[in-house]
Order: sequence, then C-alpha cells, then structure tokens
Amino acid sequence: MEHPENDSKYLGLTVNEGVAQPPVTNPYFTRRKRKPMPTVSELVEGIRRGDVTMLSRAVTLVESLAPDHQQLAQEVIEKCLPYSGNSRRIGITGVPGAGKSTSIDVFGLHVLRDGGKLAVLAIDPSSERTRGSILGDKTRMEKLSTHPGAFIRPSPSAGSLGGVARKTRETIVLCEAAGYNNIFVETVGVGQSETAVHSMVDFFLLIQLAGTGDELQGIKRGIMEMADGIVINKADGDNIDRARLAQAQFKSALRLFPPTASGWSPEVLTYSGYFELGIPEVWDMIDRYFDYVTANGYFERRRREQARYWMYETIDEQLRSRFYNDPEIAAMLAQREAAVLDNRLSSFIAARDVLQHYFSR
Ligand code: GDP
Repeated sequence: MEHPENDSKYLGLTVNEGVAQPPVTNPYFTRRKRKPMPTVSELVEGIRRGDVTMLSRAVTLVESLAPDHQQLAQEVIEKCLPYSGNSRRIGITGVPGAGKSTSIDVFGLHVLRDGGKLAVLAIDPSSERTRGSILGDKTRMEKLSTHPGAFIRPSPSAGSLGGVARKTRETIVLCEAAGYNNIFVETVGVGQSETAVHSMVDFFLLIQLAGTGDELQGIKRGIMEMADGIVINKADGDNIDRARLAQAQFKSALRLFPPTASGWSPEVLTYSGYFELGIPEVWDMIDRYFDYVTANGYFERRRREQARYWMYETIDEQLRSRFYNDPEIAAMLAQREAAVLDNRLSSFIAARDVLQHYFSR
C-alpha cells in the first residue's frame, strides 16, 4: 500500500509495516472429550466420600428428563437411602424481598460455626435455568457460596410443582448420604410450593416483614398455619418498632389457630439478616423445637408420614406423566376434547373412553 506519510518530505508520524493477524481460533485447542458417565457405584462411593463433583453429577441425573439418566438416578438414590435421614431439614419461605437469601447466608454461617455441612436447595417451579433461576443462585448467598462446608443448588428447572418438589426431595437423600447434616429448602412464599416444602422438612420457618401496612397481607393463612416459627426480618434502624408491633400482631393472630400436631407453639421473633442481629435467638428457637419434637416422638412420626406422602406423590406423578405423554392418548384426548367443546360428547363419557382405552391395553 502507498503511504504518503513515509515520504522523506513528510513531517508527521510515519507508518510501520503491520504484522500478520493471528488466527481468531486457538490452533492448539482440541476439543476436550466429554467425561464418561460414572457408574452407579462410582457415584455412590463419591457421594459417600463427600466428593462435591460426584454429588453434583448425581443431582444433575436426578434432575434430568432422559429416561436412562432417571434410571441411573433411581439406582443411586436407592443405594444412598440407607445413609440418609441424619440431618435437620429446615424449610424457609417468605415473599420475594423478605430477605431470604440475605438471611440464609447468615443463618448458614451460624449453623456452620461449629463445623458440619449445609446444603441449600430450593423449590421454585416458576424458574427456568436458562433465564437464571431466582432461588438458590450462588451469587445471592455470597458468604455461604465460598464456604467449604456449604453446597448450594438452585431449584430444578421449571416443570410441574410435583416434579420439581420430588427432585428436591431426592436431592435431600443424596446430600444426606454425602454427610450434609443441615438441609435448608428455600421457596417463595406466594403459592403452592409451601405445601411441598412442608412435606419434606422438619421445621418450617416463615420470614415476614414489618411495616407493610396490613401485617398479614399477601400471606395465606394456610402458610402461617404450617409455620413452626415466624421471624420478622429487617428489625433494624427505624424499623425496629414496627417489627416489634408486627411481632405482637402475629403472636395474637397465632393464638386464634388450632393447636399444632407437634404440640409445639410456634414462636414469633424479630431479627435483622442484613445487620446480623438476633440470629442466635432464631437458632436457639429452632434448637429448642428439635429438642421438643425429638422428646415427644413427633420428629419420627412426621418423617414417617412424609415418607408415605412421597410414595403416593411419586405414584401420582408417574401415572400422570405416563398417561399424558402417551402419543396415542394425546391424539385421543385432542379428538375427544374437540367433541366435548362442540357439545357432541359429555365430559364424563369422553373421560371414561380415554381411561378405558389406556387401562385396557
Ligand atoms: P429475597 O428475595 O427474599 O431473597 O430477599 P433478599 O435477601 O434478596 O433481600 C431483599 C432486599 O432486602 C435486599 O436489598 C436486602 O439487602 C434487603 N435486606 C435483607 N435483609 C435485610 C435486613 O435485615 N435489614 C434491612 N434493612 N434490609 C435487608
């Protein structure tokens, strides 16, 4: 190329010859081979050793929709079951913004102060991994995510609530077999997921906020009834008095509820997750609860009832998914549905036909 700048009479800067552009791709790069899938016994041994990579891979299998992965996952779960059960399972719920992640971060560090391990799991049927899960996201629990004793796993991606919850329930088994003696299951306190969480935890903690006008707003009575403890977060600065007022209101609201199955009277406390105030008191309440229900036998009873619940949940879910994923049934359903919509066929006859067809094969 002609460069007038390089003329000896030119007074400005001269242009040097360029160098060849390096290739945009790395010539030394060879695609790494995918790691082969570990066998069931490798996974189980890894989990038992507390190997986090193996635990994560097993959880991924639990969450996978591929039938061969599910088969593998079930075998791993079965082998892990004898080593499970030895943990405190705590459900934590609250509306978005209540301070769940901030609180789990400090609660978690508090629980781990004397050693032990903590797994933080989540149930959020509305979340999709690809869009960034709202719950259980590592960045939301900054301190805990770098703690060697903590294992944080976001919610299984979107699906039916039953399916998402069952996966979390199975992940608890794997975590316990890996030696996690504290399990937190987080959920957004706005919908049905509380019932699912309640059916897999020993203690259900409801995080509430003060100063939102009507203190009981936005929180379904059913959720309050499930709570073993209600904690009012953000009791700091100007908010302390309002938090105390909310505490009194919740306490009197709880008095109107029927006695709990455990015999334990749910307590209401105030704390600040952000400023780390009142954390030991919250944990003291939870410790007292565990002492109480262990002594009166409710702990064991609840776990046994939960085991039964999950048996039927699993049957329910498998039946539904087999039925609705059957191509023949799907075609038949579409056709009958159109007939029902056109008033050519009654709902009951349509349903009976499809079910009869399914069960007579
Ligand atoms: P989540 O949606 O329930 O997980 O809530 P976050 O933990 O993300 O908290 C929501 C907002 O409340 C954030 O801006 C936090 O900084 C703030 N927050 C959480 N805990 C406290 C607290 O104890 N006091 C105060 N003042 N703010 C808090």
